[in-house]
Amino acid sequence: MKMSKLFVQTLREFPSDAEVISHKMLARAGYIRKLTSGVYNFLPLMWRVLKKVETIIREEMDAAGAQELLMPFVQPKELWEESGRWEAYGKELMRLKDRHDRIMCLGPTHEEVITSIARDGLKSYKQLPVNLYQIQSKFRDEVRPRYGLLRGREFIMKDAYSFDIDEAGLDKEYQNMAKAYKRIFERCGLETKMVQSDSGAIGGSVSHEFMVITDTDAGENDVFYCNNCDYSANSNHAVSTLPNAKVDGKEFFNKAEIIDTPNTHTIEELCEFLNIPSTIILKTLVYIVDKKPVLALIRADKTVEETKLMNAVGGMDIRIATSPEIAELMAEKGFDAVPGFIGPKGMTGLPVVIDETVKDLKNFVVGVNQTDKHMIGANLEDLGLAELKYTDIRLVEAGDFCPECGKPLFVTKGIEVGNIFKLGTKYSKPMNAVYTDENGKTHPYVMGCYGIGVTRTAAAAVEAHYDDWGIKWPIEIAPYHVVVVPVSTNDETQMTVATKIYEDLLAAGVEAVLDDRDERPGVKFKDADLIGFPYRITVGKTISEGLVEYKVRETGELTKVTPEKATEDIIEIVKNIK
Ligand code: ATP
Ligand code: MG
Repeated sequence: MKMSKLFVQTLREFPSDAEVISHKMLARAGYIRKLTSGVYNFLPLMWRVLKKVETIIREEMDAAGAQELLMPFVQPKELWEESGRWEAYGKELMRLKDRHDRIMCLGPTHEEVITSIARDGLKSYKQLPVNLYQIQSKFRDEVRPRYGLLRGREFIMKDAYSFDIDEAGLDKEYQNMAKAYKRIFERCGLETKMVQSDSGAIGGSVSHEFMVITDTDAGENDVFYCNNCDYSANSNHAVSTLPNAKVDGKEFFNKAEIIDTPNTHTIEELCEFLNIPSTIILKTLVYIVDKKPVLALIRADKTVEETKLMNAVGGMDIRIATSPEIAELMAEKGFDAVPGFIGPKGMTGLPVVIDETVKDLKNFVVGVNQTDKHMIGANLEDLGLAELKYTDIRLVEAGDFCPECGKPLFVTKGIEVGNIFKLGTKYSKPMNAVYTDENGKTHPYVMGCYGIGVTRTAAAAVEAHYDDWGIKWPIEIAPYHVVVVPVSTNDETQMTVATKIYEDLLAAGVEAVLDDRDERPGVKFKDADLIGFPYRITVGKTISEGLVEYKVRETGELTKVTPEKATEDIIEIVKNIK
């Protein structure tokens, strides 16, 4: 490819709406162009990268025994009603109507469609196990599309679905996929951590995410991990033991009584007023889960992990209640307390989830649904709770102890590039997708599903490989392997040598670009660094001594070698790409 013909426009500046490195770099280097919120054009350079990521995925999925197919992007409502997700999926599901008023959606994922395919085509145990995958565009109407390709609304995903006769078969395929995923990300130049995670809207019991670890905002997930053993988990799933689990406020209070605590709207204000640590306060929070209020009780020095709370009541959507919603709830229960003074007593008729930190809490402080008052020296039996059942809804903190080996946990940020789930019969059962066993009995298939964000993986590779000057693509997924730069296109010798190198490289199957533009060398070098060609061969004045400059983008290393040596080296490197 001649640079003069390459369809690319590099920008002088990063676009103003870009917050993270991959978005900034990919937009500035001419890889992507935004069409509308969360929807991008993949320009020729980007498309080359994405095709390489897809090829790696295809090769590894095929090698792992999976078969590729392609399902429709538009899906009928009826199928989603069969699985029960038409209501449950919420606003991320983009719904639309066709000319006959039939209601459809844009596929955010394909469990329903694949299950309907399997239901028609997989009848006997003899046909199992099967793993089917596709690489395709998905649409999710994300609340906050941001960070360029990392969180788009339309994005490309590889999604695979496995069908087995039993749990043991699923376990085996789950391991098989985990191994394939590790290889896929390695080949994309990415180091990943496989962490335990919540199963979310996809459902099922066990799931793991593949995280690219980063210290930037691009890592939207907090990952807790242990340095002593293998334990690692997304914060929405992580558990821990506490350094100080048992807390008794008896040194502060000797009996239960309701006292005035004026203007103590926050935990800090209450601590200051009573001169106590927050560990002996029981905090009562009101959440709205699937549009209904839920109370969460937790020790006040700890934070509620919303996904855990949502799962505890079997919900699909969660947020903290607003002040008007709390006022309404109070009025309904016959109280007039403002936030800061809410408590569980008398709040009958709504789910109350009690965190495990409350179990060993004695002689504590708690709201009693009266503004400017709290009960001090309270114990659980004073609260009139219908049932004392404890659930872990606590957000783990760095320094808590590992649930497996007891050593302190650490926290870091991660970009989720892949996710594997054990679905079990979550879809096959309601959709009546069954196979017949040797004795003629029918059973729902035991399913797994396995996703990789193709576009997110490419963006994560940029997050992991860049410097102040631009992208440093791992060679496996770089749009081109090398750029050949004649310093002056008017210099006949330079052009002749550069053209020969370029043609020899092309002939050997190397993906090369010849920067034949009549531009200043500074401009060409800047573009080469920004676009991120892994290698650059510069033909300049030293050609009079028979030498060209060979630059490795990753390390910045520069050497003077003969044109032949530069050509041979690149050919060798490209031959060795896995
Ligand atoms: P997230 O938690 O980041 O919203 P998810 O867990 O809902 O993602 P999955 O259903 O597990 O996503 O989808 C499989 C893969 O698709 C993810 O691991 C991720 O790589 C990719 N992906 C999901 N949502 C997006 C998005 N909005 N933009 C780009 N890639 C995405
Ligand atoms: Mg996921």
